[in-house]
Amino acid sequence: MNKKIRLLIVISSLGLLALSVIQGYLINNTYKLKKTAFIAETKKSISRLDDLSPKLDGINETLQDNFLNLIADYYVKKITKKQVLEKLNSYTDSINRVYIESYEKELKEQEIGYDLKFQKVVNTIIVLDSAGIKNDTIFSSLKTPSFHLLGHKFDEKDGHKISNSLWLTDHVFNRKVNGEMRSITFNLQLETEDRMNIDGWERIVFGRMAILLGMSIFIFLLVFWLLYYSIINLITQKKIVDIKTDFVNNITHELKTPLSTLTLATKMLQNDEMVLASAPSKNIVNTIERQNIRLQKLIDQVVNNSLGYQEIKLNKELVNANEYLNLIVDDFQLSLNLANIQISKNINIDIPLSVDKFYFTTAVLNILENAVKYGKENLKIVISANITADFKLIISDNGIGIPKKEVPFLFDKFFRVGNKEVHDVKGLGLGLYYTNQIVKAHQGKILVESKQGKGTSFTILIPIA
Ligand code: ATP
Ligand code: MG
Repeated sequence: MNKKIRLLIVISSLGLLALSVIQGYLINNTYKLKKTAFIAETKKSISRLDDLSPKLDGINETLQDNFLNLIADYYVKKITKKQVLEKLNSYTDSINRVYIESYEKELKEQEIGYDLKFQKVVNTIIVLDSAGIKNDTIFSSLKTPSFHLLGHKFDEKDGHKISNSLWLTDHVFNRKVNGEMRSITFNLQLETEDRMNIDGWERIVFGRMAILLGMSIFIFLLVFWLLYYSIINLITQKKIVDIKTDFVNNITHELKTPLSTLTLATKMLQNDEMVLASAPSKNIVNTIERQNIRLQKLIDQVVNNSLGYQEIKLNKELVNANEYLNLIVDDFQLSLNLANIQISKNINIDIPLSVDKFYFTTAVLNILENAVKYGKENLKIVISANITADFKLIISDNGIGIPKKEVPFLFDKFFRVGNKEVHDVKGLGLGLYYTNQIVKAHQGKILVESKQGKGTSFTILIPIA
């Protein structure tokens, strides 16, 4: 691949990557903003639920009274810290069902449109004596989880804080201490927190971003596809241009020799002395004719071998496959006139084959000629034919082989492998293209397997019936 194209691919990929990172960053920011807005909006709609509902307010008030009595009992050492919490817990447990029901009823009236759990927890309970000097911590959530007071039970990490409230109160009460009634005062500091847990809030936030997300993914895929398509197109175009340039070079090379011979012959004929002597002029005319035939053949090769399979009009006939194939191979071997090429056959077909003899022979010969053209010393060609599901003809050689990355282009028009070994051999890159078109016209297919330096094997498959 050309350096410029590689650079283009690298720069475009980096650009696309940068674009995706920026897009990801923006989406993440939008997600955070939407999440904050969503939580804030929910908080706002439920934060004053306790105060607005007389029932909830009533429950809170009796809870406060009960709680103050417990603290008073603790203050006169009737119960321990642990018992305060235990009693508080058993009291809140007894009213929790009614509390939840009332809360849910209020929630329903808010019509927020999604499920929500809520809880009230205690973070600290501190009692100070009347002088406000000695403070006694009954509970603190600094080291332990908060104390669940009312509402649903869920983990702190699964919830969002709705509000915090700090209740400071001076409490005066009368208690019998050592047989006599005494008025006792203490200060209480109670810190509670309201929390909510929204079921599937991520889904709701994502749902609100659906259009943005959908559009982003769509645009990203579109840009990615456009880039991919343009690069592939560019590479293909470059390949086609290279192949065509090669073809022009090849054909120019092929035309050069006959044309220069013709020029020379014409020059000789212009020479009067030479024309007068009849014998040499006959030779010159013969040369002209030979070169003319050569030029004609070359043009015919380009014109005929460029036919597409739709343009090939087959004239099929039933042939005795064994006889027919043996004849092609034998004639080919004879025409070679080379002793150091070993050709072995394993042709084993006992049913007649329906092919166009003229075209099919050309197809087989093109492969055989290639095997010789791109062979090495001690060339061995193996031809085997049999009937499996289809008629199967395999032609293998132990020649120079084809580099793996070039194999997919073998049947393209004008394609020739770009290495020196191949360029020293004449050819227009049409043989395999034409062979493939002939096989396609017979509704068959052609497969190729090759290993560079080891050899190549072509398989032609033609459906029988
Ligand atoms: P043409 O057949 O038109 O005269 P060509 O032989 O170059 O020219 P194709 O027959 O289409 O063209 O073959 C295409 C290319 O495939 C060849 O140039 C050669 O590089 C490679 N090739 C084909 N057959 C073999 C083979 N048996 N071994 C190694 N390389 C092969
Ligand atoms: Mg060829």
